[in-house]
Amino acid sequence: MLWRVCRSAEAAWRRPLSRPLSQLPAVNQEVHGFRVRQVRELPELSASAALLEHQTSGAQYLHVARDDPDNVFSIGFPTTPQDSSGVAHILEHTTLCGSRRFPARDPFFKMLNRSLATFMNAFTASDWTMYPFSTCNEADYMNLLAIYMDAVFEPRLERLDFLQEGWRLEHENPEDPSSPIVFKGVVFNEMKGALSDRHRVFAERVQNALLPSHTYRHCSGGDPLHIPELTWEQLKQFHATHYHPRNCRIFSYGNLPLEPRLKFLHEQYLSRAPAVAASDTRVPLEPRWDAPRREQLKCRYDPLSPRTDRQASVAVSLLVGDVTDSYESLLMTVLSELLVDGPSSPFYQALVESGLGDDYTPHVTGFDNSCRETVFSVGLQGVADADTDKVVEIIDKTLAEVAEKGFEQERVDAVLHRLELGRKHQSNHFGLGLVMQVVAPWFHGGDPLDALSLDTHLARLRREMADNPRLLQERLARLLRDNRHRLVTVMTPDLALETELQKKEADMLAGRVAALSDADRQRVLEDGRLLQEKQAAGDDASSLPMLDVRRDIAPHAPRAEVRRETVSATPVQVSEQPTNGITYFRAVVDTSGVPAYFRPLLPLFCRLVTSMGAGQLDYRQQDQQQQLWTGGLSAAVTVTDHPSEPGRYEEGMLLTSYCLEQNAERMFGLWEDIFTGVTFENRERLSSQLQMSAAELANSVPHAGHQYAMSSAAAGLTGSAQLRQLYSGLDQVRYVRQLVTDGELDMTVTKLKMLAEMLLMKDGMRCALNGTAAGLPPALDLASSRCWLRALGEGRAESWVQPEFAPAGCQTYVELPMPVHYAARCVPTVPYAHPDFAALRVLARLLSLGHLHREIREKGGAYGGGAVASPAGLWSYYSYRDPSSLATLRVFDCAVQRGMRHFLHGITDDQFDEHRARLQAVTRDDLRRVAETYLARPAVTGTCILGKQCPDLDSSWQVQQS
Ligand SMILES: [Zn+2]
Repeated sequence: MLWRVCRSAEAAWRRPLSRPLSQLPAVNQEVHGFRVRQVRELPELSASAALLEHQTSGAQYLHVARDDPDNVFSIGFPTTPQDSSGVAHILEHTTLCGSRRFPARDPFFKMLNRSLATFMNAFTASDWTMYPFSTCNEADYMNLLAIYMDAVFEPRLERLDFLQEGWRLEHENPEDPSSPIVFKGVVFNEMKGALSDRHRVFAERVQNALLPSHTYRHCSGGDPLHIPELTWEQLKQFHATHYHPRNCRIFSYGNLPLEPRLKFLHEQYLSRAPAVAASDTRVPLEPRWDAPRREQLKCRYDPLSPRTDRQASVAVSLLVGDVTDSYESLLMTVLSELLVDGPSSPFYQALVESGLGDDYTPHVTGFDNSCRETVFSVGLQGVADADTDKVVEIIDKTLAEVAEKGFEQERVDAVLHRLELGRKHQSNHFGLGLVMQVVAPWFHGGDPLDALSLDTHLARLRREMADNPRLLQERLARLLRDNRHRLVTVMTPDLALETELQKKEADMLAGRVAALSDADRQRVLEDGRLLQEKQAAGDDASSLPMLDVRRDIAPHAPRAEVRRETVSATPVQVSEQPTNGITYFRAVVDTSGVPAYFRPLLPLFCRLVTSMGAGQLDYRQQDQQQQLWTGGLSAAVTVTDHPSEPGRYEEGMLLTSYCLEQNAERMFGLWEDIFTGVTFENRERLSSQLQMSAAELANSVPHAGHQYAMSSAAAGLTGSAQLRQLYSGLDQVRYVRQLVTDGELDMTVTKLKMLAEMLLMKDGMRCALNGTAAGLPPALDLASSRCWLRALGEGRAESWVQPEFAPAGCQTYVELPMPVHYAARCVPTVPYAHPDFAALRVLARLLSLGHLHREIREKGGAYGGGAVASPAGLWSYYSYRDPSSLATLRVFDCAVQRGMRHFLHGITDDQFDEHRARLQAVTRDDLRRVAETYLARPAVTGTCILGKQCPDLDSSWQVQQS
């Protein structure tokens, strides 16, 4: 299980390089100390790949050559801790506290100011640690390569860094020896935050219990009750034996030539491998159980979830097979999607629609191939304590039935289609997606090239299914139905749990403090002072390389070739791009005319409009048709601020879908069904969708608490921020919870129908089509001739509104049962195109990386915090103690295509270039001036705190119930 994404970088400008694919060396050829083991063409990826091994150190290197300027580098190590002290995680943090050649503390954070990286990060999973980056700039690539290699192989790992990042005993006020001694440390607090998310805990415990014989029995991120068992010496030892060239796996991707990298790695690091022996990081296969087991867990109550009497979770998990067998993994992926994915799947019908719970258990349901052995789990959340056994019975019964009956061919086709489409869909960070795909099989001894060869495996699967129509059923019977390595996990809420956990930590602290000798106490005091001094001193970033703004950076961002057409009266923006044979459709429907009374329902309307059934199709058929012909249809509420006029914004419903070029007609047909015949009548479907939505919203608060806090803090300051609070802030969480509690379905159906009448088949829509030279003309023809678009009223290029709005500040505190806080403060500034916005943006970046980082993370021991200058004309400070975990990985999925900046945000290429030019021209005086003008004495501010009890609030605070 991937615990956290520790650092995240904003995407920077991309400059396309035009360079032919680098020639890969031949098998057995030796290049700079490496020998080429395998070379393979990967036509499905339009790429070729080489696997190399460094001769003297044994380091493995995988290179994927592809004509993509977004070049990736990653170095990773299998890390298999044998306790829950969080050693691998704390090592990942301290590795980034300075190295031999780059002694600056936190070079990643500092490089955010000096690099054009499109991605820079570090991950710790249960059994590996990885440091990836990507950039389109060659000079930048070599700079970052040097920093990354030096960080992992030659980190300083100083004692004070261990205390800061890991854990320490320190006086609450380090300068006051009479203040109580407490635990501090970034990872210590980060994990307290992470483990306050009950569904994450559930997933973690499933893994611990299902694979109990080796590294997976431990909490790899670190259990706060065990983190204080780790010593600095153990940390250094773990580094010496795990971050060893023999144990490393290097990956690169893109259009830069391979050879200079091999030379650099060989000469600077790998040829000088340390004499210490590498640790054996092989994970043995799990001994199989003779009988199923059961795990009983407790969790906190969640006040945001609609029903207090239905908060249990239950799951059945089965250990399936060896992760290095990529074909079997693919087969299980197909089987798992058939079983659990979409409303036509047997588990969806039997479990989710059983009325016993809200939705599948998150993070565990489905097929997991991230560990040494693969796992299939299925379960339900939002269950009454008394019903957990019923859920297990249904799961068993469903497996038995499907093993008998098998699957409809059309559903199998839909799943295979989606796998193939997903492969072609050119997401942002394509190369990073590839390394994530190979990491588990490769790090556990499998062949990474085999793991990338999806087409070969798919062809084999089709062949074997043709030879044996019962193939999937037989696998299901053997691996799932009759599998004795099976775990039932039940988690029920317990009011006493929070107190119990607090007491455990307090007892542990008291024990540690009581055991301190006078000399130890002196040391605690001394360390606190040293750390404060070190943090206050700041440090010298001059060792870090820097790009030359004029030499290394192109003055203009790549411009999208955009054509404007109209279909009937609807404007259509057309953009030709190399999309791998996929056609992308987007549309924005103006929602500014929707009366206030209906507005809170808009996000739900968007969720339901593509998933309740339409035309001749009920919701199951509709889902299946979407899977068969498209990558799915979706709708979402958007609020966009005008780039230059404060207080002006556009709101709309954004529709998106994509498909293979040849399926464009089907895709438009599905939209047409929705526009002309969406239905909301199915009460059961509606009720189950409402419950799911309420559960998702409640679950999102623990890991996106800082975003909820920022939204609440901003809500009184501008009209658009108030709308965002309504559509995606705590107001929406409460609204949906209320809908579920009320259970007034008839009223909701009436309102949904009225919304459909207001929004669909009316005027006020605009569209965008992206595709290849071959795919666009027929798509446009289809749109003009056959589609519902013809019947719409007059479209609009843009529909800005500027309602009256009187800004009002606020100080809000929302108590939630979690051991940490999220805080935010917002002030109004200026919009995107204002001359000062660039300076505010630079200031936010500098403050986040410098002052706020030092204060909130290093000194305060919070997991993170910073400042954001948003184009909406708002400045926000925020702090959070919880990892935002998989959020960055999800960015992989979103296809940011050129032209979308303008289509969605109304920012022209000229405005964008002007902003870039201003960014590069910002001076120190500008920063001082904007800080003074906008931030020093704001007329109005909004503040919000979410989280654990906060006894020190005075009467100026408005306290809200969760
Ligand atoms: Zn971390």
